[in-house]
Amino acid sequence: MAGYRRIMLAVDLTEESNFVAQRALAIAKGFDAELHVVHVIEPLSLAYGGDIPMDLSSVQEQIHEQAKSHLAEFASNLGVANDSRYLIFGRPESEIQRLAEAKGADLIIVGSHGRHGLALLLGSTANGVLHGATCDVLAVRVGRHEEQSSAAES
Ligand code: AMP
Repeated sequence: MAGYRRIMLAVDLTEESNFVAQRALAIAKGFDAELHVVHVIEPLSLAYGGDIPMDLSSVQEQIHEQAKSHLAEFASNLGVANDSRYLIFGRPESEIQRLAEAKGADLIIVGSHGRHGLALLLGSTANGVLHGATCDVLAVRVGRHEEQSSAAES
């Protein structure tokens, strides 16, 4: 069976990203594949439209600086080199797909909360990435693990 050669790991930089990253690292090692990491900053204007009547550029700049240092720390811990880290602006779903295609990734790895009910109807990043992706997509289930470990402790 042909293995994966270039993996694009998408992270929202929340606590849960660590779990998804460990999976990605194990898979990359198993296939001796390159590991690339992407974080997408959603522009405030996209998230809130024109609803906020103020200049958001300094807030946006702060978000960018924070994300930059957080991504640098996160990727360093994973052993991912500078030129395989990407910080981009836009809609996460489409930017992750676009970048994976541009870089020739053959696997995208995202976290997934396994939503149900109303939340499922609202969709998720994992769903958005899957629909339209030109390569394989692995959705790593997150959320359950913390619940399980806290349940085991009590
Ligand atoms: P969500 O559906 O927003 O809960 O996100 C689930 C997964 O989508 C995360 O674990 C990440 O893999 C990916 N993701 C969400 N937002 C971003 C983002 N801004 N940049 C990169 N990946 C993201």
